[in-house]
Parts: sequence; structure tokens; C-alpha cells
Amino acid sequence: MRAFEYARPTTVDEAVRLVAERPDAGFIAGGTDLLNLMKDGARAHDRLIDVNALPLGDVVEADGVIRIGALARMREVAEHPAVLRAAPVVSSALLNSASPQVRNMAAIGGNLLQRTRCGYFRDAGSPCNKRVPGSGCPALEGQNRLHAILGGSDQCIAVHPSDLAVALLAVDATVLTQGPGGVRRIPMADFHVVPGTTPDRETALAHGELITGVEIPTTPMAANSRYLKLRDRATFEFAVVAVAAALDMSGNTVRDVRLTFGGVATKPWRSLEAEAALRGRRLSGDTIAAAGQALVQGAVPREHNAFKTDLVQRALDGHLRDLGGVA
Ligand code: SF4
Repeated sequence: MRAFEYARPTTVDEAVRLVAERPDAGFIAGGTDLLNLMKDGARAHDRLIDVNALPLGDVVEADGVIRIGALARMREVAEHPAVLRAAPVVSSALLNSASPQVRNMAAIGGNLLQRTRCGYFRDAGSPCNKRVPGSGCPALEGQNRLHAILGGSDQCIAVHPSDLAVALLAVDATVLTQGPGGVRRIPMADFHVVPGTTPDRETALAHGELITGVEIPTTPMAANSRYLKLRDRATFEFAVVAVAAALDMSGNTVRDVRLTFGGVATKPWRSLEAEAALRGRRLSGDTIAAAGQALVQGAVPREHNAFKTDLVQRALDGHLRDLGGVA
């Protein structure tokens, strides 16, 4: 592993400055993903700025939003009464992530920045456009069972791994940041980006820009939300397919809906097409099936992951029937 400098500032301004002034510097909080990447040679920093002494650990509800500090730990957020009441999809996504030990350690900001579990990306001996731009993508014709069917390109089809990000997208959350250019509010929908021709770039963050928190608006729809995760084993495993749904019902009719997906796309995936198939209509087996069809329009399955096209529709069907009380 490459040697690196280490510092633990106590103000956000200082932390941002220390990273912004060095191209290969980075932030570290829980370190549950970053340290593995550095040990595996998939990522190298010459300076690590430990942000754990910054005052960013609170979870506060006020003025119609829940504000979660970037250093709040996964377990704290999952068990917080305001999150359980006003955004259960977020709590459920967190409790279905990682292991109890990791949830005690890992911070919310870092969770949104965790890197893909594509085996080629984590193997420093393999070519990988995301790790070494221009080196190739062996997953296109190789081991791609867990790769994306939506949002991919001929450069990269790696799945985004965060359950939390999928849930936050379903409740219209906003990411709060501070960087060399000042503070920003970035809607979750704009925070992660598809790979296109630059798969090494995964978010809207600039170098030296630190996530300081996340805001969740408390709405009736967010309060009626739930997360479903299908995976190869019952715990400490990433999603094969995940569905986050938030429903605002008027009787049997869908007044508004958010449908977001994990395990199938290169970024947390919101399907406006699937939502449109439900909004203003009666929630039934037929309209749910239409939403599933709309979701997979444009999907590009590969040799080993074609099963996801069917599985994600089945997951959506069961999940919406459950959440909406459809027999
Ligand atoms: Fe790398 Fe993306 Fe290809 Fe995986 S899918 S090998 S991360 S370029």
C-alpha cells in the first residue's frame, strides 16, 4: 500500500483545504470501504484527511426535514425515531446493508461514496476502465451476473452498491456539501452519474468537496415507503435486485409514487416511466405489470445477468402489492 500523510482537522474549512490542495488527497470517515480499496491496490492516496472530529454527527428533525449529519453512523440513522417514522424506507435499507459491525462503523456520507463491487475493479491485476481509464472492461464479455442492465455504456456496466442511496432517491433527499467553491445542495437524482465515456467519475462532487449531510423532506409519501432487497445470502451481501417504493394513495388510486431500484443499474435508478404507468391510476395487478414493463424498456442484459430483467419486475410486483395492500 502506498504511504500517505494523515491529519485530523476539527473544522470543515480546514478539512476541505487539506484535500483540495493535493490532487491525490482524500477524506476518510468510517473507512469500511476505502481501506479495503487501498489495501487491494484499487485506490491510492498520498494524504488522508480524517473527518471524524468534525461536528457532523447529529440527526435532527425541524421545519419539515430530517437533517442527517454525514458522520452519523448507519446504525444510529437506521434506529432513529424520526427516520423510522418519516422515512421507513431509509431505515429498512440501512438495516439490510452490510453487517452489524460495519453498520456501527460506517458513516452516512461514506456510504454514498462506496465503490462498486465489480470483481475486476477490485482486482488491481485486471484491466478496468473505472480504475484505469482506457484499459478496457472485461465484464462486458466476462463475469457479469451481478452487473447492470440499465444505465450502462460500452465502457462500464458496474452496479452501484449503496442500498441507502436507492432509498434516499425514493424520498427526494438532498445531499449537502462544502467544497473549495462554497456550500451546495445537490438533489439525490443528480448526485450519482452514469458511466458514459468517463466511468472513473461516479458523482457530481468536485475534488475537495465534502459531504456534510443529507436532508429528507417529511412527506406523506415518504412516510409510506419500504425497501425490498433480494440477494444471494441473507446477510452481509449486496443486492442482486432491490426496490424502494414510496406511495401516496387516495383510496385505491395512486396520487403520487416514487420507484427506485438497486442491483440493476450503474447508479441508483429512478424509473419515471414506471411511475407514470401508476400515477393517477388504480393500483392493481395490471397497472403494476405495466409499470414493470415500462421499467425494463431499454434494458441491455448481458450473457449472465438477463435473469434480472424478469426478477426486477417480479420484485416490483410483490413489493407494490405489499405496500399498497393489493391482493
Ligand atoms: Fe471496470 Fe466497470 Fe468494467 Fe467492472 S464493469 S471491469 S468496474 S469498467
